[in-house]
Amino acid sequence: MNVALPVLREMSAAVKVERASARLVRISLTDRCDMACVYCRPAERGAYMPADERLSVAQWEAVLRGLHAEGVRRVRITGGEPLLHRDVLEVVRRVAALEMDDLAITTNASRLAALAGPLRAAGLRRVTVSIDSLDSGRFAAITRGGDLAAVLAGVAAALESGFDEVKTNTVVLRGVNDDELPALVRWAWERGITPRFIEVMGVGEGGNLWREALVPRAEMIARLAGLLRVGEGERDDDRGPAKYLRAADGSGRKVGFITGSTDTYCAGCDRLRVTSEGKMRPCLATDDGVGITEAGKTGEPGAVAATLREAWSMKPDASWKGCTEVTARAVSMLATGG
Ligand code: SAM
Repeated sequence: MNVALPVLREMSAAVKVERASARLVRISLTDRCDMACVYCRPAERGAYMPADERLSVAQWEAVLRGLHAEGVRRVRITGGEPLLHRDVLEVVRRVAALEMDDLAITTNASRLAALAGPLRAAGLRRVTVSIDSLDSGRFAAITRGGDLAAVLAGVAAALESGFDEVKTNTVVLRGVNDDELPALVRWAWERGITPRFIEVMGVGEGGNLWREALVPRAEMIARLAGLLRVGEGERDDDRGPAKYLRAADGSGRKVGFITGSTDTYCAGCDRLRVTSEGKMRPCLATDDGVGITEAGKTGEPGAVAATLREAWSMKPDASWKGCTEVTARAVSMLATGG
């Protein structure tokens, strides 16, 4: 399959989509990861940023307090792999104390078996686990060495810990795991989990394979024929780009689809990203962003607000095609947070 890349458009300050300001922030707690998914990062380990360049717990707290003052109400912690950060529980505790409307994490779950209970106790509300296959050999191949048994133990621990919601993310790759969609849905539904399927995007290492590996949403839905009601799908209010279709059996169970490649959703985007070295980024699909000043890192409210305003003013216009833009290729998912 050959999907033509759209022509690069410069991010323009001229035509802005009307959005009040950021409501949702994704923080990349660390650029480190213990897996190397084929569509995300190169095989080689290392090349991480020096530890002293990463934001400290106090700085994360200060930045998030400043963002809260500016109207941000939902926080998702991601990475790299956020559960590798030695202070992840303390970060969760401090962000939870800011009384956000939502506090969630996206994790590969390699360490979730031990951390699910403590994370819940620290104030984490929701968990999304990335799981691309239920076959251990396949899982190890996609993640370049990931241990499916550890991930399944992490999912079980999350379910026992009483989170408000547990979801899964599966990046669907043609000829690799695209025959597993019904099995993944049944497995998830049996456990009260909401499964989500993601179109592979040309971000980072995905730039090498997305044209051949992309399975468009319509094809995913065809593969789930009989399990789902037909329709356009609905978004959860204030909850990011996934559109959900409901189970055909009337049980109310759902499957989410994230269409970063065939139907980009830039127009209504109210997301902001903060990277582990303290850069505010308005869009996943470019490396553009604004470094948080030293004053901002101490939580000086005006400094955080000024950085937010500057980053927000860099939001692309309505013609932007998100992760299909050629700038996406150069983005590191680890530093940025997927
Ligand atoms: N390590 C954590 C994890 O595995 O969930 C959090 C970071 S990871 C970058 C966040 C999400 O981005 C994962 O669900 C991953 O599958 C997704 N992702 C990474 N690269 C992608 C790509 N090129 N296309 C689509 N999704 C991608």
